[in-house]
Amino acid sequence: MSEWQAVWQVTIKYADSARYLDSAAGGGYDRREVMAETAVQLRKIVEWARANPNVAGFPYRRVRVRVGDEPEFCRHGHGYAGGAATRARHDWTDCVCGGHFAYVCGWPDCDDVRIDPPVYADCDAPDAALVAKARRLRPS
Ligand SMILES: [Zn+2]
Ligand SMILES: [Zn+2]
Repeated sequence: MSEWQAVWQVTIKYADSARYLDSAAGGGYDRREVMAETAVQLRKIVEWARANPNVAGFPYRRVRVRVGDEPEFCRHGHGYAGGAATRARHDWTDCVCGGHFAYVCGWPDCDDVRIDPPVYADCDAPDAALVAKARRLRPS
């Protein structure tokens, strides 16, 4: 089962003069993306960026990353990876939490649908809508 984790994505923008001179600072790229998982990590990056004359700016934003294991079996124990005939189909649904995958078991006579990451109370994706969307993936 996976889950959404909120992190900060910081874009380090290098000053033009630093762009090609300092290979350690981006290797010719004018920006670099770094992730901070905690507020402490974010503060360290921001302090480093402020003190670095080669950094022209460091906008950051809150993003969500999917962490943990993706489901490998349906709730009846059928493997999702298997051959083409039984491989699970999945579909994506946007949600305030970041989004959800609905996995439709591909085994014959199995109608299991798994939602991953699970739908929580603060989600706006209705479980039933996810399942209905996913069921349409099933070959008839
Ligand atoms: Zn199944
Ligand atoms: Zn959600």
